[in-house]
Amino acid sequence: MNAPLARPRRLPLVARAPEPAEPPAPAVVRPAPLPPGARAWLGLVGEIGRGYLRALAPDAARRTPFAVSFLVTARCPLRCRHCFYHYATSSPETELTVDEYDALGRSLGPFPVALFCGGEPYLRPDLGELVLRVRRHAGAPLAATTTNGQLTDSIVTQTEAILRAEPRRPFTVGFSLDGPREVHDAIRGRGTFERALGTYRECQRLAHHYPWLSLTATTVVQAANHAEAAGFVRWAAQELRPTAHAVLLARQSPRGGEGVKKVPLASYAAAQEAAVETMRAGSLWKRLRPDALYLDRVARHVTTTRATGRRSFHCLAGTHGALVDPVGQVQVCEQLAEQPGVGYLGNLRDHGMDFGALWQSAEAARARALVNHHATCRDCTHETMGHATSLLFPPNRLLRGPRPGGGT
Ligand code: SF4
Repeated sequence: MNAPLARPRRLPLVARAPEPAEPPAPAVVRPAPLPPGARAWLGLVGEIGRGYLRALAPDAARRTPFAVSFLVTARCPLRCRHCFYHYATSSPETELTVDEYDALGRSLGPFPVALFCGGEPYLRPDLGELVLRVRRHAGAPLAATTTNGQLTDSIVTQTEAILRAEPRRPFTVGFSLDGPREVHDAIRGRGTFERALGTYRECQRLAHHYPWLSLTATTVVQAANHAEAAGFVRWAAQELRPTAHAVLLARQSPRGGEGVKKVPLASYAAAQEAAVETMRAGSLWKRLRPDALYLDRVARHVTTTRATGRRSFHCLAGTHGALVDPVGQVQVCEQLAEQPGVGYLGNLRDHGMDFGALWQSAEAARARALVNHHATCRDCTHETMGHATSLLFPPNRLLRGPRPGGGT
């Protein structure tokens, strides 16, 4: 028997079009997430940029200044010949406390640059806490301190506490180094050079673990070191590799007398040139490195002022810069405040630690009105209260260069 034939499959008369497929979802190109380091860096750049724009606003003089110096103590274990703060005194009993700094921090508006100096700031065991309180409330993305490097334990321990508490937030420790061992020791005391270098090396180890720590050097050019200053700056660049080297000119009323300020201009200029050159050489930015450009311009201003006897910039201390002294007195400029009866606005303690109340007071307006006009401003070369608060405002002033007589 034959097997039944399989029924032929009926083919459809008309070929059916395939069901339309769902259009493919457009590919979403998601940007690669920024690594946390880059995010933090961009955040910082934004914070600094906003601080700068705030400083350009027409009512800037009523706001927290662009740069505030906090002299946390007048005490110091050294007796350097060029020190101009030797007349001041303070003690743990009279200095502003952590709680007072906390209240002060709350009263400050956001501002970009905070300098914690002294005296020797690391003599205070609570320095780290003071730094953190100000930054917690007022930002201050660019915070720095300057030390003579003698209190190794305090410097390393407190700096590490700051770095741990605020990951990826830059902090700078500047070391005062005035020349080769014999020169530095003659100015600051026997053994101070080796101790400062030892502390510096310890801090370099810290910077290895916390790359947001920068170490810088500061050299005050004075009668006792001017001949060696330029060579020393080059030596430091090679041996210590600081991220920047600030070269200052001895000023005001030094402990060692007026002779300390007798510096040939060529020596000062050579030291500044060495700093600018070595900073540029060690950077990918080369000639465009912004802080080297700034130091180069400061050097031109200082040499012009010294050569002509007339201040070369329009000073904006009291608008973009202020200073809080160890016991809470606020100044528009420490150099002015050395003159009897001028420069002090009042004491924060008498104003409930409210910086704004003092900064916007009639006393502040009176002190501000003296800036540029007081006799002490005539041939001023003050690098921090003067140039740092003035040369960036307006933005093209840095490029315009020195103008003997000040300009506007
Ligand atoms: S010109 Fe110099 S002394 Fe006068 S307020 Fe400015 S920084 Fe102070």
